[in-house]
Amino acid sequence: MTYSYIIHLECPKCQTTYTDQEEQHLCECGSPLLVRYNMEEAAKTFKKRESH
Ligand SMILES: [Zn+2]
Repeated sequence: MTYSYIIHLECPKCQTTYTDQEEQHLCECGSPLLVRYNMEEAAKTFKKRESH
């Protein structure tokens, strides 16, 4: 549940993207990968929680 909003990992340097299944969070260029979240899905859930 905690990780359900992660869609992929992205390199801030060369914009290469990896799946969240990637074991090493390092790009082939040596830069650490950033985790991208599915904000749409997260927002939906937060809305649900706020509503009655
Ligand atoms: Zn890279």
